[in-house]
Amino acid sequence: MDQLQRAIIERGSVLSDDVLKVDQFLNHQIDTNLMMNIGRELVSRFQDSKITKVLTIESSGIAPSFMAANKLDVPLVFARKKKSLTVKDNIYSSGVYSYTKQEMNNITVSNSYLSSDDHVLIIDDFLAHGNAALGLIDVVKQAGASVAGVGIVIEKSFQEGREILEKEGYRVESLARIQSLEGSKVTFLEELAT
Ligand code: 5GP
Repeated sequence: MDQLQRAIIERGSVLSDDVLKVDQFLNHQIDTNLMMNIGRELVSRFQDSKITKVLTIESSGIAPSFMAANKLDVPLVFARKKKSLTVKDNIYSSGVYSYTKQEMNNITVSNSYLSSDDHVLIIDDFLAHGNAALGLIDVVKQAGASVAGVGIVIEKSFQEGREILEKEGYRVESLARIQSLEGSKVTFLEELAT
């Protein structure tokens, strides 16, 4: 997705050989026009999948997921990272190690919002080692629902997330695939046509 790759090059910054900062348009300030197009593109990749719900994880997954769910005309559910006082019992939960924060989060989803009738599209902002996606898949399984696939805004293809998910039989669609962040430079698997 050219618009996304341009945003990464022009507005992102490489923090280290394996961490990209995109606070300018995705993780802190949100470029709503770009997010609309991201949602549209994600939906087009899963067009024939008969999705009934989009599932993501707070907080950075919410913006791209909102746009996709709105286009699909289905509800968006986000897993919470911190325990909510209003959701106590009847929850699905899974342990997810946070790559950027280097801490374990127990993600939770109320069982009111996922059921065995659901066919779920999982969306997240980044795919690195696959922990967040696997935690969300675990939640879908606990609900007896099925996974339509995993939609990712930015995949760091040099980390093993995609491989793990594909080995388990899940379809992964990523809008930008980064081959390397070495030398403070973003190299994509598919470079932009100039
Ligand atoms: P994973 O669970 O696949 O190891 O990592 C994905 C999660 O960690 C995403 O939800 C995202 O919030 C965060 N993450 C992983 N790598 C990066 C990165 O390079 N930059 C940013 N901003 N977040 C990342």
